[in-house]
Amino acid sequence: MYALVVVDNPSPMLDKPFHYSIPEKLRDEIKTGCRVMVPFGLSNKPIEGCVVGLSEECPGHVDRIKPVLRRVGDGPALSEELVMLAEWMRDEYLCTWQEALGCVMPAVTRQSIGTKKPGKYRLWVRPLAAAKGAIPGNAVRMRAVMDFFAETALSEICCGTLMDETGCSMQTLRALEKKGLVEVFDKRVIRSPEMPTGLVRDNVERLTPSQQEALDNIRAMHRRGRREILLHGVTGSGKTEIYLRLIGDALEEGKQAIVLVPEISLTPQMVEWYYKRFGSRAAVIHSRLSAGERYDQWEGIKRGDYDVAIGARSAVFAPFDNLGFIIIDEEHEHTYKSESSPRYVTHAVARKRCEFYDALLVLGSATPSIETYYRAGQGGAGLVRLTERVSGRTLPAVEIADMREELKEGNRSVFSNKLREGIETVLQRGEQAVLFLNRRGYSTFVSCRNCGSVIKCKKCDISLTYHRGENFLVCHYCGYRRRLPKRCEVCGSDRIRHLGSGTEKLERVVEESFGDARVLRMDMDTTRGKGAHYSILKAFKDREADILLGTQMIAKGLDFPGVTLVGVILADFSLNLPDFRAAERTFQLLTQVSGRAGRGDRPGKVVIQTYNPGHYSIQAAKDHDFEGFYGQEIEVRKEFGYPPFERLINIIVSGEGRREVIEGARAMYNGLCDRLQGLKKKYEIYGPSQAMHSKIKNKYRWQVIVKAPDLDEIKEAVREAKMELLKGRLKGISIITDVDPVNLG
Ligand SMILES: [Zn+2]
Ligand SMILES: [Zn+2]
Repeated sequence: MYALVVVDNPSPMLDKPFHYSIPEKLRDEIKTGCRVMVPFGLSNKPIEGCVVGLSEECPGHVDRIKPVLRRVGDGPALSEELVMLAEWMRDEYLCTWQEALGCVMPAVTRQSIGTKKPGKYRLWVRPLAAAKGAIPGNAVRMRAVMDFFAETALSEICCGTLMDETGCSMQTLRALEKKGLVEVFDKRVIRSPEMPTGLVRDNVERLTPSQQEALDNIRAMHRRGRREILLHGVTGSGKTEIYLRLIGDALEEGKQAIVLVPEISLTPQMVEWYYKRFGSRAAVIHSRLSAGERYDQWEGIKRGDYDVAIGARSAVFAPFDNLGFIIIDEEHEHTYKSESSPRYVTHAVARKRCEFYDALLVLGSATPSIETYYRAGQGGAGLVRLTERVSGRTLPAVEIADMREELKEGNRSVFSNKLREGIETVLQRGEQAVLFLNRRGYSTFVSCRNCGSVIKCKKCDISLTYHRGENFLVCHYCGYRRRLPKRCEVCGSDRIRHLGSGTEKLERVVEESFGDARVLRMDMDTTRGKGAHYSILKAFKDREADILLGTQMIAKGLDFPGVTLVGVILADFSLNLPDFRAAERTFQLLTQVSGRAGRGDRPGKVVIQTYNPGHYSIQAAKDHDFEGFYGQEIEVRKEFGYPPFERLINIIVSGEGRREVIEGARAMYNGLCDRLQGLKKKYEIYGPSQAMHSKIKNKYRWQVIVKAPDLDEIKEAVREAKMELLKGRLKGISIITDVDPVNLG
């Protein structure tokens, strides 16, 4: 037998399993998923690695095969399923074995396998036998301890507690241990991360008829063999309660469940729901856990201490071995796409795991992604709808403020008359308002303030990005460049300019405009500290402020009954992102943020400000019309060949030397052209062009985009071209491959 071992070395040149022979004495120990020490290289220096498979065949000269030195740790560190998942990820996302294994086995758990485990330990004691005769007659304390165990029938207890209960000392316990009557041992203290509390209203126990119907539908579809279901429910329709019931089903069958939420720190309310219901059976996994906490959670899951894992995207790898459900809540959120290698799509990973366990994947959203909804339409997922809000609450009325008209009437302020009046009314009535500034990143687009039109690339249908220094407009997909025109090409107006406004500035304007209002701001700057999101939300919930203003952070999952007005400062910010998903993002954001209004007893109102009131994403958001939006958007995707009709790979070449980066991107482009030439299938290669973020941390970035209906043969060509480039003469460049990118550039 031979072990296939991936060694712990990040070099892409060593990215393959190496064959090692298994010595007779290790035959029973070495299994797929084990960590092992092996000799490596010419010097035979011992190096740690992971067994990713066993084989009876030897590829080369038997004499040259080196033996595995020893196993590290007690048993397999990874299940066979997770090893298979890593192998699939390597193929699917063009990453290395190391990167894929790093996902299924976080670094902290790996480091601690061979060495002393991190964490706090306490001394515990357990009785071994009730042989009273061995205790000397005058040893009162010893007897008290044994009597205590006899009376309480406890199988083990913390030494400290026992000393308090019986008045014995540690010496007594050690003496008993010597006599073989008790065993004193180290027991690890499980650190449970602090849970948010006080954000959730009382747990709903009873389902509404429509919730019940949706739940019955999901169960029935699952019984009939469905592996994937899209739960499309309007905001406030009570999807969470359905998830909770489904998890309950899994636990009853002795199975486990994973619940994924977009970002734990942004969604403390969601987490509290689950924690209230499942208590200590639930592990919460998120990026702000300390290494020790993360280790505890991971090990606890493997040991079977938990049945439910709640977390952001990385929790999809929770090492359960009998999964019943994976639930992806708010499935449309872009945080489900990893932005570091391997750049996996959580949906696809979850689908793969569910396939293995014959488990059910439930995707939930009020605004499903175009890809998911299309998949459901094609039969790839069952579709279950929830069209009513719970407790008969209505969806808020949405009004659109046309900023072109406001400007014509001489209103140059940030606020339209509608929004200003709305805020004044809220303040008078003592209610609350949320103001939403959906500006993201530093991208700058150019639009006409007279007619609202934006300059786009005709080939890609993408907003051109304005580069201030050069006074040029650039398409970040295909590299098309043009000068900034003096007049609008649609209406001839010279009121053509780029727009920009930050939350900080908005806070000042709000304070100036509404003198008495108490304002809270939530954005990247105010939420840096641990627990900052929570304290801002808690303050708002406790009515310590009248207005909450912020970025997309406030669009997610918040449920505050006092909020009766939501204002969107400028819908155009997301509408004009240089991204083929700009319209989808806008519709989602507007719908989500509107859903924050009117969750209490009073009806809510939403005001959307825009220079582009006729755009279908804004009109559909106004009418709460997902179907209408989808119908238009899917046509655009088809026409321009974007997902779900075609898939993309974005290849970014980056480095400190500008010349090397450009040359590298060109070489990548040419390498791909050469390799794909013979391919009969349809494909397109764009670029090379400057990435949207053309320089990050002093590194220049250029990109090449490949687009094709399916990527099977293309991925291999990309991998080869990448290896050739890395082995070549260009120094100091690195290559990022992003399959199914969510953000281009
Ligand atoms: Zn115009
Ligand atoms: Zn273009």
